[in-house]
Amino acid sequence: MVYQAKSAWALVAAIAAVTQSQTGLAADAAFGPSNPFYETSILPFQAPPFDRIKDEDYRPAVEAGMAQELKQIEAIAANVAAPTFANTFIPMEQSGALLARALNSFRAVSGANTNPVLQATDAALAPELAAHQDAIYLNDKLFARVASIYKRRHTLKLDPESLRLVEVTYANFVHAGANLSASGKAQLKKFNAEESTLSNTFQTRLLAATKDGAYQTTDKDKLAGLTPARLAAAAEAARGRKALGYVVPLQNTTQQPVLAEIQDRATREVIFQNSWTRAEHGDANDTRDTIARIAQIRAQRAALLGFPNHAAWTLSDQMAKTPETALQFMSALAPLATGKAMREAADIQAAIDADHGGFKLAAWDWERYAEQVRKEKYDLDESAVRPYFELGNVLENGVFYAAHQLYGITFKELKDIPVYQPDVRVFEVFDVDGRPLALFYCDYFKRDNKNGGAWMSNLVDQSTLLGTLPVIYNVANFPQPAPGEPALISFSDVITMFHEFGHALHGIFADTRYRSLSGTATPRDFVEFPSQFNEHWALYPEVFAHYARHYQTGAPMPAELVEKIKKAANSGEGYSLTEVLAAAELDMQWHVLSADAPLQNPDEFEKQALRKTHLDLAAIPPRYRSSYFMHIWANGYSAGYYAYIWTQMLADDAFEWFDTHGGLTRANGDRFRRMVLSRGNTQDLEKLYVDWRGKSPSVDAMIKYRDLQ
Ligand SMILES: [Zn+2]
Repeated sequence: MVYQAKSAWALVAAIAAVTQSQTGLAADAAFGPSNPFYETSILPFQAPPFDRIKDEDYRPAVEAGMAQELKQIEAIAANVAAPTFANTFIPMEQSGALLARALNSFRAVSGANTNPVLQATDAALAPELAAHQDAIYLNDKLFARVASIYKRRHTLKLDPESLRLVEVTYANFVHAGANLSASGKAQLKKFNAEESTLSNTFQTRLLAATKDGAYQTTDKDKLAGLTPARLAAAAEAARGRKALGYVVPLQNTTQQPVLAEIQDRATREVIFQNSWTRAEHGDANDTRDTIARIAQIRAQRAALLGFPNHAAWTLSDQMAKTPETALQFMSALAPLATGKAMREAADIQAAIDADHGGFKLAAWDWERYAEQVRKEKYDLDESAVRPYFELGNVLENGVFYAAHQLYGITFKELKDIPVYQPDVRVFEVFDVDGRPLALFYCDYFKRDNKNGGAWMSNLVDQSTLLGTLPVIYNVANFPQPAPGEPALISFSDVITMFHEFGHALHGIFADTRYRSLSGTATPRDFVEFPSQFNEHWALYPEVFAHYARHYQTGAPMPAELVEKIKKAANSGEGYSLTEVLAAAELDMQWHVLSADAPLQNPDEFEKQALRKTHLDLAAIPPRYRSSYFMHIWANGYSAGYYAYIWTQMLADDAFEWFDTHGGLTRANGDRFRRMVLSRGNTQDLEKLYVDWRGKSPSVDAMIKYRDLQ
């Protein structure tokens, strides 16, 4: 995952957050020289002075930063001189320095090391930041200057990056509705407000529905098969809810992890049905009317903005550009994914039959028997693997090593850069010629005050115009070892490290003039490409052999264990690809509805959408059903869920190029860095990719590496 501070996605998310977080806290702290954000940091790379920053410093700094940026923007808009690139775009890029440095640091600590003060600050700032974005994007005078330059852009002899800045900025304004008449803007605001309210309703209802969907029983036998830890958690959950016996809460996905363990088939079916119908009980928590109306509003808003449907509006600034491209991609992949899933289903049915199950595989059986097949086929024992993956060793001899072999960069740990939490490590990254390139922070261990998952972002954005080098961080949630014990991680954690460092490299190599186009400031259907690409090196023989060594003896991992890891890595690929594709198709089908389409019946719509796309497999339901698909109704991912698989395609296609051009070599790495990783969003991304790859991306490599044929 990646946080994109300056993208349109962040804008959408910020606007969506408005209604969730009205707190009424007053901003009374004054902002002055005693605030550590007042001046540009004097630390190397302008690193944030975390040793001097107090929780109370963020809010006044961010608010003063918004006020400063607004003043700067108003000055640009009010300029009496005719609009030029130099008197409009350059000062726009230079504006908001205080806001950027305060907000980047704030986002880092509020995501990875939060507390009540930071949470209250977050709640207070969210609506202010959304209003701030609106004030810029709906400033008519500013847009008139941007549009005037945009119309003349080909006569201005701009360099390619400046031309791209004009085009991207103009598109962002248009995307936000700047081109509309006053009445159009008023209508847009109405749509946005209604969508935001409905999204909020959806979220509230879904939260309650998910809570109510928990499975409760006093009969321990019904839960036979659960590990002692999970059973204890279920007893604890029951106590927490003042319920009798055991409670198994629902997770947000259709499939529930406990289904892999529970032996009683009837219990499995009940839990599955609880999940599948959680928001469809016709009660106060039913979300179906809400989502049907959200889809309709989005279609109407798209029409207002001049697009045939919401997906066309959303994809207009993405790499895929049109819903048709994304739909074609998905329909090419669907038969391959379902074909592999059907082969997995046959293996699973065989396991059921061998067990004398006497039933036909259903969705609630899949996880349990897939686990059995996995054990029989691959026999991979996690505890035998972990001693070969000591965190610090994986970082320096795996993740850094692969980057060194490919790009020639080197790393040196710095102990004197202030951090926001003692577990955080900081490395200086040096270029091939020894020049300082970036700072890299890593914060890998799980804490109670850290968001779940793993992500990357910037503390300082790279820009040659601003004279800033990138300061990057990776955050994850690996188990904290007992004091004095080594941190031994799983292979999937190893993959996470390579993934997040792939994002980090996209930031570290950023070499652009404009901050708005720098590093990971790319569309959603591109940004997960460098990260998923970098995952490929984790199992690359030369890299793997370099880091997968026993933490006590230094011995390499036995060949048979390596083989098992490789085989297990692809197991269940058919199922997981199919369930994600089905969800992505639902997302896209909902969002290609036109403005004049009638209000849909969600169950009927969903059934037809899955049938039409050949993804209506009873044993493999979509990863999220329409009625509980949080990503698309509340989290800013609408018409964007396909990006997960699209970027997998790019990653595999790109790795195939390396694979057929000598693999892990400096020549290959340098070329990729020069043509892709350093370029941010400075070029049309489809063109950028094709220029580097020599052809358009295709699913062929995906078929090969994921064993889909
Ligand atoms: Zn990612």
